Amino acid sequence: MKSRGLTKRNLLVAAAAVAALAVYILFCEYSGAMPRCPFKWVTELDCPGCGSQRALHSLLHGHPMDAWGYNLILPPVVIYLMALVLLPLWGDRRAERIHAALTSPAAIWSLLGVVMAWWVLRNLPFMAGIKF
Ligand SMILES: [Zn+2]
Repeated sequence: MKSRGLTKRNLLVAAAAVAALAVYILFCEYSGAMPRCPFKWVTELDCPGCGSQRALHSLLHGHPMDAWGYNLILPPVVIYLMALVLLPLWGDRRAERIHAALTSPAAIWSLLGVVMAWWVLRNLPFMAGIKF
């Protein structure tokens, strides 16, 4: 029997919705409300998440191409995270299999590898002229 009311998943979805609403309303490139990345502040290099607030802001305002420009991996990561939240709500065997594949150790390690590769790649000198 499925539980109703305040489950961990419902709280997580509500927290994500509140965070998305805050980003939608508060954060924009020129508002000054965006905190500075501590890794970039210390090293002057981009971390994997640099530009993700602007990218999320662009996604929430319906500008996916701008989001790609700010952080190349944020849009697919958002899709991945949405799949993790929404697939269990689908409630059929196929969705369960896809969710199990997305949360398998191989998938998690692959995602971590992509993020680490992105971190190195975006800081290489030949990438300096490319916006993201
Ligand atoms: Zn950063």
